[in-house]
Amino acid sequence: MAAFHDLEQVIKASIRQNGPMDVGSYMSLCLSHPEYGYYMKKDPFGKSGDFVTAPEVSQLFGEMLGAWCADIWMQMGAPERFMFLECGPGRGTLMADMMRSTRMAKGFHAAAELHLLEISPALKAKQKETLADYKVEWHAGLDTVPDDAPMIVIGNEFFDALPFRSFQKQSDGQWAERVVALEGGGEQAGLCFGLCPLGVEMEGYIPFHLKGAQAGSIFEAAPVRQNVMRQIAERIKSQNGAALFLDYGHAQSGLGDSFQALKGHKYVDVLKFCGDADLTSHVDFEGLVQGLDRLVDVRGAVEQGAFLCALGIEVRMQMLAQKISEQEAFALQKGLQRLIASDQMGALFKVVYMGALDGHRKIEPCGF
Ligand code: SAH
Repeated sequence: MAAFHDLEQVIKASIRQNGPMDVGSYMSLCLSHPEYGYYMKKDPFGKSGDFVTAPEVSQLFGEMLGAWCADIWMQMGAPERFMFLECGPGRGTLMADMMRSTRMAKGFHAAAELHLLEISPALKAKQKETLADYKVEWHAGLDTVPDDAPMIVIGNEFFDALPFRSFQKQSDGQWAERVVALEGGGEQAGLCFGLCPLGVEMEGYIPFHLKGAQAGSIFEAAPVRQNVMRQIAERIKSQNGAALFLDYGHAQSGLGDSFQALKGHKYVDVLKFCGDADLTSHVDFEGLVQGLDRLVDVRGAVEQGAFLCALGIEVRMQMLAQKISEQEAFALQKGLQRLIASDQMGALFKVVYMGALDGHRKIEPCGF
C-alpha cells in the first residue's frame, strides 16, 4: 500500500478506489483515523484549541450536574455500587467537578465506580492527570462497561462528535444521499459534495412528515448515534439507572444542513483541513430517542438554560460569590451567563434524560 502523508491523501485514494463516500464515513475518518484522525492527535480544547465546552467555561456546570447525579442516586435508593459512566469526557474536567461537588453526598463516592468512554489517546492522557485522585477505567466501547450494577451515565457534547448522514431532496421529487467525491480528475482533484441514489436501508430514516420537503432541502440522520443511544437505553432498562446527555441541536427533527468544522475557534470549510478541524453536526434529539420510550422513561429535550436554572445554578453562583473576590465573582457571573443565556449556550444546547421505568423506585429527574 502507498504511504500517505496526510488524511486528505488517504480519503482521496479511498474515493478513487471505492467511489464517493457518505458523509458519515468521511466524518469518521477525519475524527478517528488511527494515525491522522482529529481526536487521535491532540487535545482540541481551551483557548489555544479549537473550541470550548460548557465544563471548560465554568466549574458551575459540573457542580450542578454532580448534584443532579447525587439526587438520582439517592432516588434510586442509594445503591452500594453503581457505574458512573461518562461518554466522551474531554479533558476530564466535568467528571472532576462532579466528583468534587458530590463529596458531601454521604456514600456516593464509595458507591461510584468511574468508567470513561473515550477513543482519543491524547485526551485519555489528559483525563488520567485530571482524575489522578480516583480509580478510573477506560473503555473504547460500551460492551466492556460492567453490567452487574446500576448506572448513571453523563455525556456532554458526545453525540455531536459521532457520525451522521446527509440527504438532499431532488427536483424530481426523490431524495438522494450527499456524499464526498472528487472534483475533476488527476492528482490535483479536490474534495467536493456530490449526490448518490438513496440506499433502501436509509429510506426509513427520513421522517414521514419531512418527505415532501422542497427541492434542495437537506435532512440529516444519524443511525450511529441512535444505535449508541439504544444500547445505553437497553443497559438502563436491564441494570437500572439513568442517563443525561447535553448537546447542541434541536428538540424536533427538522430540515437543514448543520455540518460544521471548527478550527482555532473559527468555522472553516468542512472539506478542508481533514483531520485538523473538529467536525460535528447538530443533534436531532427527537431522532436520537426515537422508539426508546418503550424501553425507558424519556424526558426532554429541554433547553440547557432552563435545565440549569431549575437545578439552582443561579443560587449556587450567589453562594460562591460571597466567598470570592469581586473580580472572581465577575468572571464566574460571565461564565454562568454563557451557559444559560438564550443568545449564548442556554437555548441552542438541549438536555435529554432516560431513566429506568421499572426500577425499584420511580425516579423523578430534577429539571424536567
Ligand atoms: N464532554 C467533553 C468533551 C466533548 S468533545 C466536554 O464537554 O468538554 C467529544 C468527546 O468525545 C472527546 O472526549 C472525544 O475524544 C470523545 N469521542 C469522540 N468520538 C468518540 C467515540 N466514537 N467514542 C468515544 N468517545 C468519543
